[in-house]
Amino acid sequence: MLHFCQNMQPIDQFYPLLTKPSKVIITMHQKPDGDAMGSTLGLYHFLKALGHDAVVISPTNWADFLDWMPGINTVIDFEKKKDAALARINDADYLFCLDFNTLSRTKNMEAPLANAKGARILIDHHQQPQTEVFAYGVSDTSKSSTCEMVYDLIMASENGAHISLDVATCLYTGLMTDTGSFRFPATTASVHRMIAHFKDLGLDHTVVHSHIFDNSLENRLRFIGYALLNRMEVLYECNTAIMHITKQDLQRFDIKTGDTEGLVNYLLGIKGMKLGAIVIDRDEERKWSFRSKGAFDVNAFARKHFEGGGHVNAAGGRSDENIETTLHTFKEVLKDYYNQLQ
Ligand code: 5GP
Ligand code: MN
Repeated sequence: MLHFCQNMQPIDQFYPLLTKPSKVIITMHQKPDGDAMGSTLGLYHFLKALGHDAVVISPTNWADFLDWMPGINTVIDFEKKKDAALARINDADYLFCLDFNTLSRTKNMEAPLANAKGARILIDHHQQPQTEVFAYGVSDTSKSSTCEMVYDLIMASENGAHISLDVATCLYTGLMTDTGSFRFPATTASVHRMIAHFKDLGLDHTVVHSHIFDNSLENRLRFIGYALLNRMEVLYECNTAIMHITKQDLQRFDIKTGDTEGLVNYLLGIKGMKLGAIVIDRDEERKWSFRSKGAFDVNAFARKHFEGGGHVNAAGGRSDENIETTLHTFKEVLKDYYNQLQ
């Protein structure tokens, strides 16, 4: 049975099916961040409590600073255990797709997900979702995080009693990381009410912050210092700060998955900056991250110039050009945005 639906059914149409124990896989975008891992594991603990045979499959590896999360040892890395992952994908009744808008964001899992016989279900807050490939779903760009949307699903389906401390801890992680520790505009009163609920359940938020932010090795801090000193350029006329990280930099400081996370945020810390952009020379591609303040839409910018997308104020992209050329391209393209960036 192929669920290739033109019209994605609203997620509440799925709630009645929650009561029937099923075979479920839950997945997220490649190189999962706190929100991707937090929302998938939060949903995993919840579905297990309802009696489902659930498993989280990550398209790739993840950062060490996520390795403490409740349930992380059950997560299958698609690149490391492809056969086991494919067996679960092909056997699943439901495939939950969290924190991404198009199947291509799952890299090598795109084809297996597209060909799976089970129903795909979307829960996501990115712009322009590929709704035609999902049987059920919810896409809401106003939400702070996918973790918030998983919480909404649990509460709206009247399953609040199944929010265990593990569910709360996982969901808190993504709420915290995707809101920049509760400072971005999407941090609504509902977000704070959700956290009050988690605190009532016994959440230790200090431990979560420590795991995520106080977990660097010395080399990572030296690397950040080096990058700020040597690799940052401030284009005051465009209120833009950019940074580039070369392959040699990554080798010199032994940089691993997750070590560059958050680096782009320093750029917007400079007074007056409206756009921050960082490009990293990865093996397969030059990977861009964009952040903006106010109305400047980096989702549209990344889509138009760097084969990417994301949110209005946080997006990513890529390029096949070498690092010098893609930097040059960026600066050329930026000239067209001079007025918008004043
Ligand atoms: P980051 O810069 O932290 O990698 O990503 C910022 C936001 O943009 C995240 O929500 C992420 O999921 C999204 N994003 C990152 N890279 C891409 C990309 O290549 N394509 C799309 N559509 N979204 C991306
Ligand atoms: Mn997210």
